[in-house]
Amino acid sequence: MRPLDLYEKDASKKVTIYFEGKALEAYEGEKLPVALLANGIYWITTSLQGRKRGAFTFGPLPVIVNGVKNINGRKTLVKDGMRIERQNYGEFQETVEIDESKGVLREVVDVAIIGGGIAGIGATLELQEYLTVALIEERGWLGGLMSLKSTQQEGFEEEPKKVIKELTSQFNDNVNVFKGTIALGVFDEGEYFLVPVVKKDQLIEIMAKRVVLATGAVENILLFENNEFPGVFRLDFALEVINKWGVAPGKRVAVVGRKPERITPELEKCNIEYIVVPNPKRVEGEEKVERLIDTNGNVYEVDAVIVSDYRLPDINPITQAGGKLKFKWGYYVPVLDEQNRIRDGIYVAGSANGIKPHYANYLEGKLVGAYILREFGYEATPAVYREKLEEYEPEPMPMQRIEFKDMNLEDVQICGCDVNLKKVDDVVKKGITDLQIVKRLTHLAMGFCQGRFCLFNGALLVSQRTGIDMAKIDLPVARPPLKNVRVKALAKG
Ligand code: ATP
Repeated sequence: MRPLDLYEKDASKKVTIYFEGKALEAYEGEKLPVALLANGIYWITTSLQGRKRGAFTFGPLPVIVNGVKNINGRKTLVKDGMRIERQNYGEFQETVEIDESKGVLREVVDVAIIGGGIAGIGATLELQEYLTVALIEERGWLGGLMSLKSTQQEGFEEEPKKVIKELTSQFNDNVNVFKGTIALGVFDEGEYFLVPVVKKDQLIEIMAKRVVLATGAVENILLFENNEFPGVFRLDFALEVINKWGVAPGKRVAVVGRKPERITPELEKCNIEYIVVPNPKRVEGEEKVERLIDTNGNVYEVDAVIVSDYRLPDINPITQAGGKLKFKWGYYVPVLDEQNRIRDGIYVAGSANGIKPHYANYLEGKLVGAYILREFGYEATPAVYREKLEEYEPEPMPMQRIEFKDMNLEDVQICGCDVNLKKVDDVVKKGITDLQIVKRLTHLAMGFCQGRFCLFNGALLVSQRTGIDMAKIDLPVARPPLKNVRVKALAKG
């Protein structure tokens, strides 16, 4: 077994790959950075500012594969004999590629649901008896965050994988599931909404009479020095490597952030040694995490750090589709009418709307499904779901203080695209508090995540430096497309 494998893998799939010339054991079809991690390799790319980066926090992951530069490491699956080398960011921009020569496909449905997490699944099940549904999911699998967990979740009777399998096996012929498909936005097109999506490099125009945004939430980026160093894991990536790929993030892990209980049961289940460090200051090491230092100066010898903090609704799909935001429960949420709509025809369900347990998000998916059925003249009982949902008030997130004085702000990354806290702070300290201008001057929210992960901390910084209430800060509206798109050059001849 490789150093970080949690169990034996299928020996018939065993292959050899080469990283920087060194032969490594891997498994056919394994995600490239996971294969490297299992072998104890964390540093894969180097940012524009010369910072070592791994695959499991944020920022792009360009690698050289078999001599070809600018390959997206996160989307690369292992093949026998593959030769991988490190690459600097250079001009690499993570983009969605469209092959124009394939033309555009078109699909007409009653309802387009963006996001195949538990909320999107709930909405699909409610709608499918009477209406046609396109369920669009960026990942290659359904179930969102819940499907990455292995422990039973409140409200469900089985472990997450079984629940998702059982629920999705109930989908009928009215449901068209688009996995591995990114929705680029929602646009008005006469009586319909146009939802352009990209599956591999094929552009598909989905025309729908109603849209459900079940786009979920993102992990809060915790601000400490070297918070993107190889060996620091975002919680969803940690869950993925453990439960989907059977690989440990490290041999001795530090859990940081305000919600360690989101990951510790999973670590215990797999016998991964961990310590909880509530007050991280700095991560250090040569090529990967070797130690964590807390704000009291305590030093912990660890080889990985998992950030287990709060989640925040992904506000980009909301503002792109024309929704307004308000500040409630310590984060930004969409302004909804009494039927969970941001405007006529566009509904929001799940953690896109406030952080709640998975079961509540499932119920909320069913709730918006029921509202839509009623709009189309079918019998439905949204009141039943509404009543059950009253038991689940979204979880408030306490405001975090940025420790400006005690941190080396240049080493604290606020955004994966090489934007550090100092860069943003310098602009704000000059009196520029309009995030739209901060964005232009610093490149905050201009990379692949388009602000999904970093805008919140941008707002937090403005608020703490100037005293402006978070509720009064204007967040820039997400511009379409939701992900950078590039049209593939047409093949010659
Ligand atoms: P919970 O928060 O309880 O897990 P949820 O269904 O509200 O449930 P997620 O689990 O985060 O939230 O699921 C949201 C899903 O939406 C994710 O799987 C994510 O990949 C998907 N998603 C987000 N944006 C897009 C997009 N633009 N195109 C396609 N899929 C998207």
